[in-house]
Amino acid sequence: MTDSEKDKSPETARASLCVTHVLVHYDEIALKGGNRRFFENRLAKGIRTALKGLGTGENGQCRVQPKHGRFLVKLGRGDTKGPDGTDPEGAPIEEVCRRLETVFGVARFSPCVRIDPTLENAAARLEELVDDMVARGISPESFAIVTHRARKDLPFQSLDANKHLGSVVHTRTGWPVKLKNPDLPIHVWFVDKDAFIAVERVAGPGGLPAGSTGRVVCLLSGGIDSPVSSYRIMKRGTSPIFVHFHSAPHTSTESQEKVRELAIKILHHGQRARLYMIPFAATQQRIITECPAPLRVVLYRRYMIRAAEAIALRDGAQALVTGDSLGQVASQTLENIDTIARVATLPILRPLVGMHKAEIVDDARAIGTYETSIEPHDDCCSFLMPPNPATRSTPEQLEEAEEALDTEAEIAELLEKAEVETIVGGQSLDDSFE
Ligand code: ATP
Ligand code: MG
Repeated sequence: MTDSEKDKSPETARASLCVTHVLVHYDEIALKGGNRRFFENRLAKGIRTALKGLGTGENGQCRVQPKHGRFLVKLGRGDTKGPDGTDPEGAPIEEVCRRLETVFGVARFSPCVRIDPTLENAAARLEELVDDMVARGISPESFAIVTHRARKDLPFQSLDANKHLGSVVHTRTGWPVKLKNPDLPIHVWFVDKDAFIAVERVAGPGGLPAGSTGRVVCLLSGGIDSPVSSYRIMKRGTSPIFVHFHSAPHTSTESQEKVRELAIKILHHGQRARLYMIPFAATQQRIITECPAPLRVVLYRRYMIRAAEAIALRDGAQALVTGDSLGQVASQTLENIDTIARVATLPILRPLVGMHKAEIVDDARAIGTYETSIEPHDDCCSFLMPPNPATRSTPEQLEEAEEALDTEAEIAELLEKAEVETIVGGQSLDDSFE
């Protein structure tokens, strides 16, 4: 998330609120008609998993409650106010925000304080809030009150509330009112039997909640592209199973570490996924000895796709995902994409197919995988790369080349040698936050 996606409110203003809750907003799910409940349940699960260990409930759970097309996350037990403005017994708000920013399906969220839902009470609480801000030396160039009414039986309109509460704050502080892009937007929600005040709205990643659209097998190399492609398809609500092919002992163990690290980064905090590490060197050796050199890379890919599909079918995944971008390298011409895809029966999703490298790099930086991806590593495909790889292979050429190999036995061997591990999002490799 970039700074421009946040409201311009100074973050220090948060300290003046006694933050008791976070209101979490979603948008795309709201369009899901009859399936809406299902998507909401998945989102609530994603939020609970991400915040696990921070709350005051059993096993450190945070209470996540549906609230009129939003979710309400309760941070603490009461309204005690510590020196930084938050409940010292509650979940640490900075960490809560950091984790919520990674949960797919979250469009925006607002750390807020719960108050009684009358205009008089809102006015009194706003006076306390701005007094505290003034005492902390906060003086925004402009402010605006933004009232949201989720219930329509209130004895006032949003605009009336904006005017009334705005004049209360202005009288108290002298801060100028600016309705468009104010320096400090103060949000007031009236939802069910409660009201909430917030001084910021933080952007989440959006998309659909994890596990809401199905399971996919993501082919993850240590490069720049495949973590971005996996992230993009996960943002559409899929649960990933990662598959990595390595050429140990010809490639280093660091390249496998790197893939683990990338998988940890693209999962949201606490999210679990399987990672298959598949030793590929023996298959590559046979390809090198038995088949024409220009077809090597396409042959590697066809065996990777076959093995990934076998895992997908066994583990109940419905599609494969690769980081192909049309024309980027020899193996990604239309002809080779076709020749490679012929060995699969499941759909192969290619989220990056129409993107050029600079756009993919921007994405990699934004999701935090770029620095890890560019660490020097030896990918299995750089192992005995032919000097002149074929750019226009045909399925017939490949079938002929593969006659020298026992494909069924190759795939059986790859699956048998595969090592599976469980990766947990947000953890570092040598220490865990949980
Ligand atoms: P990346 O940056 O993801 O490595 P790339 O531009 O290097 O991509 P290729 O090496 O042609 O592209 O690989 C195309 C795709 O095939 C990758 O994006 C990935 O999905 C898959 N792939 C390539 N190598 C591996 C590997 N060693 N393990 C798993 N998948 C791989
Ligand atoms: Mg690669």
